[in-house]
Amino acid sequence: MRSKTETRETKLDACDITRMLEACPGDETESLFAFADRTRKHFVGDSVHIRGIIEFSNYCTRNCMYCGLRRDNRNLLRYRMTPDEIVAAAKNGILSGYRTIVLQSGEDPYYSASDIARITEGIKSCGDVAVTLSIGERTLSEYATMRSAGADRFLLKHETADAELYLRLHPGASLETRLECLQNLKSLGFQVGSGFIVGLPGQDISTVAEDITLLKLLDCDMAGIGPFIPHPDTPLALHPPGDVMMTLKALAVTRLILPYANLPVTTALSTLRNDGRHLALSCGGNVIMPNITPAKYRELYEIYPDSASLRDPEDGGIREIAVMLEAMGRKMSTTRGDSFRRETGTRGAPSS
Ligand code: SF4
Repeated sequence: MRSKTETRETKLDACDITRMLEACPGDETESLFAFADRTRKHFVGDSVHIRGIIEFSNYCTRNCMYCGLRRDNRNLLRYRMTPDEIVAAAKNGILSGYRTIVLQSGEDPYYSASDIARITEGIKSCGDVAVTLSIGERTLSEYATMRSAGADRFLLKHETADAELYLRLHPGASLETRLECLQNLKSLGFQVGSGFIVGLPGQDISTVAEDITLLKLLDCDMAGIGPFIPHPDTPLALHPPGDVMMTLKALAVTRLILPYANLPVTTALSTLRNDGRHLALSCGGNVIMPNITPAKYRELYEIYPDSASLRDPEDGGIREIAVMLEAMGRKMSTTRGDSFRRETGTRGAPSS
């Protein structure tokens, strides 16, 4: 039987979060993951939302220390999809059954806000589908142009809540600006997602606790939590990958602290572990984001090598995912999978 505390939003302070992140493998982590799984089931149900990602440009003006798309990586062949190509790829995704299309790129000012707006309108004219943008930092007025065109959601990970670490890893950028962008997006009515990387150099367990606390402060609709994976053409080439167990613990605690949030299985986790989707869906996750970028571009969107997304078929493997979910006793959502508060107009806990 479910206890009363499991059917209400759990109030956790930084000490509670740190203690849970310190859970030892075995009984302690199993208990944490089971609690997160019950919380997920109670607050957002068994449905898993499937979002099709189109990585439309690997150009980037930034130089993040951990990312293969960084400006100074001269070993990467760069590409940009045309607006027609992007809309065509989205249309294929919609025909395959996707109800959300995620447009992702490096920070590439080649695409003006009006370009993104027109692409968004083109996709939305194909059906009742949500459009999520993941294109980095822009001005408030640029975000407003995209929102006016019908863009529904925006993903902008804070990456790390430690301002000094943020500065070291993101030359020329600041956590303050990042947070300002997130606030701007919220003020425009976007469903907003953030997230962070587990295993960055200089990060410790208290930093991860701060990352989760920040997600709560931001009151995110979505949160992506993935392990660091080194890329050979970056300054962090020799740094070891992030810990899968810590990533799963962070995901589970985030489910407890943001029970209504949409929490995806990150591609980075699936890259480190073949069973990453299964693991993450079992400890709080409720979203899968297959890659539906045309095959000729996929290898070039190399944030880190050997991405699991390279294994996805052209349509992202939506049928195979349905089979996997059924075997887990879960089901593929047939809705757009909007933020719970948009669907119900509430943020309070359901009565138990
Ligand atoms: S993490 Fe994003 S902003 Fe940073 S270099 Fe990579 S694509 Fe560019």
